[in-house]
Amino acid sequence: MVRDISERAAFEQQLHYQATHDALTGLPNRDHARNHLRLLLESNDADPRPISVLFVDLDPFKVVNDSRGHQVGDELLRDVGRRLRSAIDDGALCARFGGDEFIVVHDPSASSLRLGELAAAIHRTLAQPFTVFDQRVDVSCSIGIASSHLLVDTDELISNADVAMYRSKSQGRSYTTFYSPAMRIGLEEREALECSLRSAIEQRSVDVHFQPIIELATGSIRSVETLARWNLAGKGPVRPSEFILVAEETGLIVPLGRLIFEMVSRQQVRWQSAHPDSELRFSVNVSARELAHSDWLSGIKRILEETGAEASGFTFELTETALSSNISLASLRLQQLRDLGAEIALDDFETGYCSLTYLREMPIDTVKIDHSFMGELDTEDLDNNIIALVIALGRSLDITVVAEGVETEAQLAMLRSMGCDQAQGFLFALPQNAAAIEQLLWPEFDESTIGKLLGDQS
Ligand code: C2E
Ligand code: CA
Ligand code: CA
Repeated sequence: MVRDISERAAFEQQLHYQATHDALTGLPNRDHARNHLRLLLESNDADPRPISVLFVDLDPFKVVNDSRGHQVGDELLRDVGRRLRSAIDDGALCARFGGDEFIVVHDPSASSLRLGELAAAIHRTLAQPFTVFDQRVDVSCSIGIASSHLLVDTDELISNADVAMYRSKSQGRSYTTFYSPAMRIGLEEREALECSLRSAIEQRSVDVHFQPIIELATGSIRSVETLARWNLAGKGPVRPSEFILVAEETGLIVPLGRLIFEMVSRQQVRWQSAHPDSELRFSVNVSARELAHSDWLSGIKRILEETGAEASGFTFELTETALSSNISLASLRLQQLRDLGAEIALDDFETGYCSLTYLREMPIDTVKIDHSFMGELDTEDLDNNIIALVIALGRSLDITVVAEGVETEAQLAMLRSMGCDQAQGFLFALPQNAAAIEQLLWPEFDESTIGKLLGDQS
């Protein structure tokens, strides 16, 4: 009987553990976290103190999972769980909420860490590179925080933190945002946006604009960057930064990118046959999630075949994030694109340690200096000028340097004097539709055509 009871107790204990813990990471699960939070909120009546929920979501976990497989993804989640647990103190509870989402429940009376310190510790620990099956994996996270100052129940508090997390994600990498009720409006809009974008892609009602890239030595247009444009019926244009982010998060970026590449390929063929001497190149943006997608490259090849476009006329623009989320796959893809005859540009270049290594080790033809650096050109201090540094580096590695976001004559003059190869920005031309670009590149009624017409008549 005694043995029976203790076996049964052990069994029940195990059942209880399984019901309250996540099998993969061993962390408390969603139910456990909600119960814990509910008890805290209920017992908080006598001496109210703000209980907070930190909603932590990994970036860009889905890319890692898509490109390196679920085994790596699972192992990474286990490591993340371990790190989170050691980053927080005993007074806080860390749970796996589902997928790549974790929540931390913070009770100020139990924890020695303040809320801000806790968020900072989480960012810090996840920013260190992971090693999963001997591969380096870099991730970061977005954090949303909601506190129980307002009268909220458990689910509302978690949901508020989730909403704040989305706001963080839309800011870029490694942000922390505190919830405010106004953010709710944004969330509903976002879901509606996803739905409309999905049907816009299906109906092929997305557009492309092209922005000229100027060769500074000659002033001629070397290439055009393709930028997605989308008009929402009844609402007008949606900012690309907004809908591209939604597309990246939902995976819609893959069909969207395919649609855009197809339109650009057809444009290339059209211009090539109308202007056979043209050497105009097309730059196309590729997101991390596209590069990681197993069918992406075959899709590109198929479109090239179907449209008859020349791969050698394209430059694919990738950001450091796209390369760093899976270095070995990125290297392979870059080489495959190079083998097709295309060129590669490193977009939004900042001089982080990774970017510099990529320049040396990956087949990169062009770097595009992020427009956030252009402001530096307005100051006199050239000693520490990052742009000058990148230009020198580009020259020594035989990489073309493009300055993005050039808006003033002063910036242009500085770039010229530093020997920058190419530039792009509102100073030269806005992104415009194909007809406008065609008029810019091959004006129908320029003086020589008019002269020729007159000459023919006389
Ligand atoms: P990006 O690749 O860095 O593209 C350059 C952005 O800078 C464009 O914003 C362009 O309109 C803007 N820009 C150009 N000249 C100037 C200037 O002088 N000053 C300033 N302040 N901005 C300038 P846009 O069109 O809003 O696109 C935003 C981002 O969305 C792009 O940044 C790119 O990352 C992404 N994107 C756009 N189209 C696509 C696409 O087809 N596929 C993918 N994957 N991403 C895209
Ligand atoms: Ca770009
Ligand atoms: Ca850029």
